[in-house]
Amino acid sequence: MSKQFTRCGILFVVSAPSGAGKTTLCDALRQTPNFTYSVSCTTREPRAGEIEGEDYHFLTERDFLERVRAGEFLEYAKVHEHYYGTLQKPIRAHLDEGVDVLIDIDIQGAAAIRQYDDPLIRRALCDVFIMPPDLDELRRRLTKRGTETAEQIELRLTTAAREMELWRDYRYTIISQSMEEDLTKFRHIMGAERYLSRRLVLA
Ligand code: 5GP
Repeated sequence: MSKQFTRCGILFVVSAPSGAGKTTLCDALRQTPNFTYSVSCTTREPRAGEIEGEDYHFLTERDFLERVRAGEFLEYAKVHEHYYGTLQKPIRAHLDEGVDVLIDIDIQGAAAIRQYDDPLIRRALCDVFIMPPDLDELRRRLTKRGTETAEQIELRLTTAAREMELWRDYRYTIISQSMEEDLTKFRHIMGAERYLSRRLVLA
């Protein structure tokens, strides 16, 4: 007798210190079918080339804090002196439809989602840490990117050193190499997670 299976979407939470190659990885993953990238809100200024609604929803601090009060965020945090937050409504809608969602958030955001008081979200969660090879390499990548001042780079490196201590809190850790290798590893994780028995629902 054939049985009809469905499954809820997976919430892929990816954290990585700035410059670990996460943005490039996330951009490449956006092309995957049955998969969507969640656009966060932030109060930081757009960088050159960033597009409203595609890279971030760029909000004023006042607007951001109003949304916090209205309970619109699944999680939010202050990172490098700016607010960043994940809107909960679109995420729930996608998970309910069986679409996998990727969110690119810092370690505070990942910790908040692990504790989130909703079994649907906790069951959907698959958290992945992208570990940069080392701080020197990170410094090289940030300097090459050229979007931060020397002072901002130092702040990001200090945060990175702290974040790199927390890789054990994540279900998976990818030691960052080339973008292609990171992408292949991520696709392996994605494949395995999609076939977990516990994610299937018998219709
Ligand atoms: P950037 O300013 O370089 O785009 O991002 C800075 C940091 O903010 C990164 O570590 C990124 O993962 C984090 N971030 C981006 N969006 C969110 C979010 O919605 N929530 C949290 N907690 N962190 C975020």
